[in-house]
Amino acid sequence: LTLLGLESSCDDTAAAVVRQSGQAPAEVLSSVVFGQTELHSAFGGVVPEIAARAHAEKLDHCVRDALAAANLRLQDMDAIAVTAGPGLIGGVISGVMCAKGLAAATGLPLVGVNHLAGHALTPRLTDAVPYPYLMLLVSGGHCQYLIVRGPDEFKRLGGTIDDAPGEAFDKTARLLGLPQPGGPSVQKEAESGDPRRFRFPRPLLDRPDCNLSFSGLKTALMRMRDQVMAEKGGLTRQDRADLCAGFQAAVADVLAEKTRRAIRHYLEEAPATRTVTVAGGVAANTAIRAMLETVCSEVDAQFVAPPLALCTDNAAMIAYAGLERFRSGGQDGMDLTARPRWPLDQSSPAMLGSGK
Ligand code: ATP
Ligand code: FE
Repeated sequence: LTLLGLESSCDDTAAAVVRQSGQAPAEVLSSVVFGQTELHSAFGGVVPEIAARAHAEKLDHCVRDALAAANLRLQDMDAIAVTAGPGLIGGVISGVMCAKGLAAATGLPLVGVNHLAGHALTPRLTDAVPYPYLMLLVSGGHCQYLIVRGPDEFKRLGGTIDDAPGEAFDKTARLLGLPQPGGPSVQKEAESGDPRRFRFPRPLLDRPDCNLSFSGLKTALMRMRDQVMAEKGGLTRQDRADLCAGFQAAVADVLAEKTRRAIRHYLEEAPATRTVTVAGGVAANTAIRAMLETVCSEVDAQFVAPPLALCTDNAAMIAYAGLERFRSGGQDGMDLTARPRWPLDQSSPAMLGSGK
């Protein structure tokens, strides 16, 4: 099967072609991503209206480039997969309309994909990961633990009740005058910092569940920064490094402990497969990655982290999730709708987390 995938739910416009024959490993034949960072940089965040217009303008080019890079034509596809939510609704609508147009023009089947399912299935695109596996999805907009039982079956064990970790890294960078995206710049500063100098809280560790909270870390950071500034009249390079190190250690510690708990739940359900996976931009953080590897080795679980280009928003994961869905008979009609909210685990109460 060969699928074209489209993604436009946030600030990346992307198209990709993915192929899988029988039981052979899936192949990413092409993956094109147009970022919009510079369009939004003056506003300090993604502006939905600007994003939607840019997606509408860029999608055709992305599709053309993805097909050209794969050296294939639209007629060579078996189906068209598209992110149908959750996300910024204007962007999602742009993608869904584009996919419908392509499907109508070619007669190809249309497959709507949940963006989070795309992230959650990525380890199977790159590695032979059997169901069920545990997934920690950590990005700029999301943070949740999922037991992935099948292409359409997810159990949410918990997640953030406020900010996502990527968002917290970005805000930390902003508070310290470091460049965006904040994750890489905070990580770089942290390398020369002392994580013990500033004492950051470890939110929600007193609770036995798998929920997390990161907004308090940002508040703590602001308070510590202001205190240093009041004492010395400014921040030295070392102060900044120590603040970054303390913040990053707190995020890693909290994720480590909650991951241990999530693994316990997962192993109760599936003692045999023992596979823990991660996706999302924050998976790029070397301290967090190292911590996850340690936690997995404690319980003799296999740790799988897809390459970073497939961890952040891309269309290959959408094409692949669409492929799995299509293979098991999933398909949509022209009534496919764009959904701003679409929790993966329909059975879990929305109050368990941001549900984003
Ligand atoms: P989503 O995919 O949830 O819609 P998003 O597009 O913002 O949100 P991603 O593209 O997956 O998320 O990841 C971007 C986020 O990852 C940013 O918040 C960025 O700061 C963070 N990030 C990237 N590299 C690192 C790093 N080395 N350490 C920590 N965070 C990082
Ligand atoms: Fe995403």
